[in-house]
Amino acid sequence: MFKTESYLPIIESSIHDFYSDLEYEGYLGNSNFDYARAINHHKEFFIALLASTNAEDATDKTEEFVHFCVTHEIPYMFVYGELLTIARNLMGILAEEGDLENLKKLNIYFDNLEHEITIAYFHKFLRRLAAKNHLRLSHIANLVEKNLMIHYQQHIEWLISLISYIENHCKTSYPELDHCLCKFGKWLHNTSIPYIVTTSHFKEVTRLHQSLHDAASDVVGQCQQLIQKPKHLIHLLQRLDYISLEIGNEIAILNDMMLIEEYSKDPLTGLLTRRLFDKVMMGQIEIAKATESQCSLIMCDLDHFKVINDTHGHLAGDAVIQNFAAVLKKILRKSDFIFRYGGEEFIVLLPATSKDQARTIAQKICNEVATQIVPFDTVALNYTVSIGVSPVITGDTSYILKETIQSYVSEVDSKLYLAKQNGRNRVE
Ligand code: GH3
Ligand code: MG
Ligand code: MG
Repeated sequence: MFKTESYLPIIESSIHDFYSDLEYEGYLGNSNFDYARAINHHKEFFIALLASTNAEDATDKTEEFVHFCVTHEIPYMFVYGELLTIARNLMGILAEEGDLENLKKLNIYFDNLEHEITIAYFHKFLRRLAAKNHLRLSHIANLVEKNLMIHYQQHIEWLISLISYIENHCKTSYPELDHCLCKFGKWLHNTSIPYIVTTSHFKEVTRLHQSLHDAASDVVGQCQQLIQKPKHLIHLLQRLDYISLEIGNEIAILNDMMLIEEYSKDPLTGLLTRRLFDKVMMGQIEIAKATESQCSLIMCDLDHFKVINDTHGHLAGDAVIQNFAAVLKKILRKSDFIFRYGGEEFIVLLPATSKDQARTIAQKICNEVATQIVPFDTVALNYTVSIGVSPVITGDTSYILKETIQSYVSEVDSKLYLAKQNGRNRVE
């Protein structure tokens, strides 16, 4: 075992170099605060591993380090990049000093370390991938009306059988590799729901599904060799998982579009009615959990609406409500659920949308409304809207109750109240 403890300062500065060279957000693919914190935290585990002085300690520290990385979704290629940077820096220093003996030892040490980390990462990653997909299945199982999500369920079952093929060292049978012949593929290539097949989302699912099968064919074709040195296999599986979640998101969007088409609508605005709200929320939270996505709520109330009614009459008020509904439909996506929640109160459930994204959309609605001119009889009416925004928590595994949904409504309602308090015609 190479004594790395005397090189700790160099190791630490190499890790810092590695970080400063990274285009942080670009590489990590998101700017999630928890994730950035996990990345910072994992450094400590890594340094502890490199500082271990005997083989037994190193095995324990490898286990702890890899466990942390896998549970916090730190990609293998990221860990591998760090390891390579440190090895290269240390070797550079030894080469400069002409210390060939230690250079050789160091080379062997890092080769072994890379192998140990890769094997440990692979096994933990595989187990976690299986667990995550079982969890996704259980959320779909909770759905009262599965609709299109039944097809995503079949896709996840397919993925789970691919994972267990690898877990069984390629000795059991593998799932259907032809993208037209697996259960999901059969549905995809034979469905004729007109509202669905013409959308860009449907085309995207078809494309994603094909590339997923290409990756799966690579996995099965090379599994025997890859399993010995699983670096490439981890990479392929991380790709599979990523594409699979993308498919889930697109299917959820198509599912929502279909539901919105089928549900009964409010006669004045053509929007969904309050009656459906709880039911839609329940379903959407399960779907968000099954596809590991976020969703948000927006609540709108027209400002000083009584004045419009009192000055121009009830029909003028109705025309303004219709105009506002048209603005919402114009700005929101076809997969967003827009409810007429009260007379001139509206609530929007935005699937696959973070709070920040929802805020941007809400501001757009607010701005657009302020430019509207609603013709009525001989007058032109102006109006404004106040909007509250809040996120829906989808990251935990708890069961959703009616009270949970009520608490989300209270939260977004209090934001709306704040917007009114802070002067109206604004977003909070
Ligand atoms: P604020 O800025 O505080 O929201 O003031 P506001 O005048 O809008 O107050 P509030 O929201 O309490 O008033 C809502 C009014 O909307 C009361 C009700 O008469 C009227 N309203 C409710 N439903 C309808 C409808 O379908 N058509 C019309 N024309 N008016 C409606
Ligand atoms: Mg109101
Ligand atoms: Mg109002």
